[in-house]
Amino acid sequence: MSVQQNLITAVASPAPEPPRNKVTVVGVGQVGMACAVSILLQDLCDEMALVDVMEDRLKGEMMDLQHGSLFLKTPKIVSDKDYAVTANSRLVVVTAGVRQQEGESRLNLVQRNVNVFKCIIPQIMKYSPNCTIIVVSNPVDILTYVTWKLSGLPKHRVIGSGTNLDSARFRHMMAERLGIHSSSFHGWVLGEHGDTSVPVWSGANVAGVNLQKLNPDIGTDADKEQWKKVHKDVVDSAYEVIRLKGYTNWAIGMSVANLTESILKNLSRVHPVSTMVKNMYGIGEEVFLSLPCVLNSSGVCSVVNMTLTADEVGQLKKSADTLWGIQKDLKDL
Ligand code: NAD
Repeated sequence: MSVQQNLITAVASPAPEPPRNKVTVVGVGQVGMACAVSILLQDLCDEMALVDVMEDRLKGEMMDLQHGSLFLKTPKIVSDKDYAVTANSRLVVVTAGVRQQEGESRLNLVQRNVNVFKCIIPQIMKYSPNCTIIVVSNPVDILTYVTWKLSGLPKHRVIGSGTNLDSARFRHMMAERLGIHSSSFHGWVLGEHGDTSVPVWSGANVAGVNLQKLNPDIGTDADKEQWKKVHKDVVDSAYEVIRLKGYTNWAIGMSVANLTESILKNLSRVHPVSTMVKNMYGIGEEVFLSLPCVLNSSGVCSVVNMTLTADEVGQLKKSADTLWGIQKDLKDL
């Protein structure tokens, strides 16, 4: 008799059960691993699968996480370049792709990453046909559209991380200036993730006190306090972090774990994420932009209709036009 046989008496024969809350992370670069660790540390899944094309790095990352099993409550962490390892995922987080170079705009990345997605998305669908996908790779709004097209999933099951990160940055910077915690400043950055994102100054508030009522010029050039600069800092901050450390990863990882929690725990919390906005705010094309979305186990279950000013709606439409201008030229979708 082996040590194991002497030590342990079987009571039931362990029939393998499919996982209930399996999360796959595609791409184990800086962003993928920050997402994976943030999700693991919050005990959100019962199995995690990692996929990448770089086999040594993939195995190394998996082993390193497994060595932390003592400190985690996710009993199974697996990885492979073969997507069979992702089977039965409830949620798939796609972070694979080429990252922005210093000073490169997100939109410049598009065609390179579209080609990567043509390999990834059909494989995900083959093994997890009922999953929800969160797209993180940039340019995120366009790649969310690409994922929607390539997957054949209903639109509520394809979500872009969108301006979830921009809004978190905005709330952090506004709250710092006001001397309060980020969670107590309420403000939304919507539209395109990145350079043309739209800060909704008309809704910025603390404890229900609307900042625009205190300063009618807030967010405009006429504002003596120049609050507009905070949004400019939000846009510039990604470039600044990339300049300083080469990439951004921690904040996006934490924000993706927050979305994961709302979906896997069916919380119906409202997040600014990228969703199909055709026929909203007068947008006529099939583009994905961030609006406040109710996230639960069905994915995007509904969208909150913001009371936007004419100028804010104009900015959203401009983002939609910019994205469609690029999307319409994408081939083989
Ligand atoms: P990275 O270069 O560190 O990692 C990318 C990973 O993708 C690599 O490990 C690479 O091997 C893998 N990969 C490439 N092709 C693949 C394929 N066909 N299948 C599987 N894996 C593949 O890059 P990163 O810093 O982790 O950034 C990843 C992406 O996330 C970039 O597109 C970046 O712009 C984006 N990003 C988005 C946000 C956001 O808010 N949405 C924030 C930060 C970064």
